[in-house]
Amino acid sequence: MLYCGICHSDAHTAAGEFGPVRFPVVTGHELCGRVLEVGANVTKCKVGDNVGVGCMVDSCMNCEQCKAFEEQYCDNYASFTYNGHRNHGRVPGNKELQTFGGYTAENVVNQRFVFTIPDSVPMEKAGPLFCAGITLYDPLKHWGALKGKKMRIGVIGVGGLGTMGIKLAAAMGHDVIAISTSANKEQMAKEKGATDFCVSSDPESVKKFAKSMDLILNTISAPHDVNLYHSLLGNSGTLVQIGGHPEPLKFAIVTTLFERTAVAGSLIGGSVNTQEMINFCGEKGVFPDIEMITADKIDEAWDNLSKSNATGVRYVIDIKKSIENGYVPQ
Ligand SMILES: [Zn+2]
Ligand SMILES: [Zn+2]
Repeated sequence: MLYCGICHSDAHTAAGEFGPVRFPVVTGHELCGRVLEVGANVTKCKVGDNVGVGCMVDSCMNCEQCKAFEEQYCDNYASFTYNGHRNHGRVPGNKELQTFGGYTAENVVNQRFVFTIPDSVPMEKAGPLFCAGITLYDPLKHWGALKGKKMRIGVIGVGGLGTMGIKLAAAMGHDVIAISTSANKEQMAKEKGATDFCVSSDPESVKKFAKSMDLILNTISAPHDVNLYHSLLGNSGTLVQIGGHPEPLKFAIVTTLFERTAVAGSLIGGSVNTQEMINFCGEKGVFPDIEMITADKIDEAWDNLSKSNATGVRYVIDIKKSIENGYVPQ
């Protein structure tokens, strides 16, 4: 391990906000490192390769979803990188064996979930692409953004996920409308590649962009009025939930009839699309804005994430430097 990105999910998980946690838990699902050793049947990478791992480390590999390389929707549940179960029988011994993530010095992962980092991607910036990058790339691809037709794509929320969505959609050649409750994020959103900015707390601004978008990616993970955002969709448009929260939505479904719109959801992305995404990011120069920290600053970084992420910066742990500084991974 050389670097590991810090995702807000790490802090949510440790706080028990994503359901039960089995302690000890080792968080981190934006892994980035160099191959030290490979098993006898490994063909995908060799010793010395620069590689990364994202939110999954295993799946049944046998169901229809897995056969289509959509392992995140595995019928038998994918093994998530931490606080998950290695439950697919490929790890000998205890079937309940727990998964441990990337805040560590070494990790062992099935080759299917290990991705080659091309030379065009700076190593320290690769980690967040395996979480935020694929989370936005996969729905963009699924809803037609790589088909060559110019679209108008809205991105709700200008945090870590949202800025990645803006950069990716812009790199795919589309008009990108950043949507935020705070007007003061306009300049930042435009610096990341947004062509337009909609202030969702301003009725005039919402009116200006009404029925204008083909696809909207919604990164908000707190309860909110989905009707307002739905009003920005043009006919046959789709509003995709990337962020989620357990509270039911109050949504006027009848509005979808009159405009043939859809409200959908999307979770990370599968193994083939993840490799495709990292190659695309290298080609187009789409990288997250990061701030490097050492392991002793993790608590501080988590606190900052829980307050707000006003800058859209992703924290990345410099693992090699942390160890050189005398930090001992437990
Ligand atoms: Zn994440
Ligand atoms: Zn499966």
